Amino acid sequence: MQPLTEEQIRASFINASNDAVERMPLPGLHETVWEDREYLGWLDPTFAQRGYIVYWREGKPFGIILRSGSSTLSRGISAMCSLCRTHQPGSQVSLFTVPKAGQAGRDGNTIGTYICSDLSCSAIIRIVPPPSDLQPRPLDVVEGRTSGLLARLDNFTQELLPAS
Ligand SMILES: [Zn+2]
Repeated sequence: MQPLTEEQIRASFINASNDAVERMPLPGLHETVWEDREYLGWLDPTFAQRGYIVYWREGKPFGIILRSGSSTLSRGISAMCSLCRTHQPGSQVSLFTVPKAGQAGRDGNTIGTYICSDLSCSAIIRIVPPPSDLQPRPLDVVEGRTSGLLARLDNFTQELLPAS
């Protein structure tokens, strides 16, 4: 993804109060390897169960605030992240509830979806099996996963916006 500045990030949130955005701690942007990610996602170290995702949507920075449920799925069962579609132990996928944009969100309307608990889809989709006769080139595999992840993120964030 194209890099984002702190200003762009703070101005990008469509479903958070000004107060929450002001107090939001940012990850280390200088250490971020932008080319290896589809979105910037991080958990709030100062506010339990709060997370953030910012990415480029239709050429503009687009940020959402997320709340993770207090209960995680049991380790024994497998769960799938709705964004990267990776099957993982249930303890590594969390149900996040995401407030809708604008008045709907202020009225308490949210959408729930299962996402990798630590919001690290980008790292996970880059883990690929070594090339073989059956397996296409690893780079092609990652490319396919990247476009799938971005398309699903676009679809999900569309649901948060008021119908136009
Ligand atoms: Zn994921």
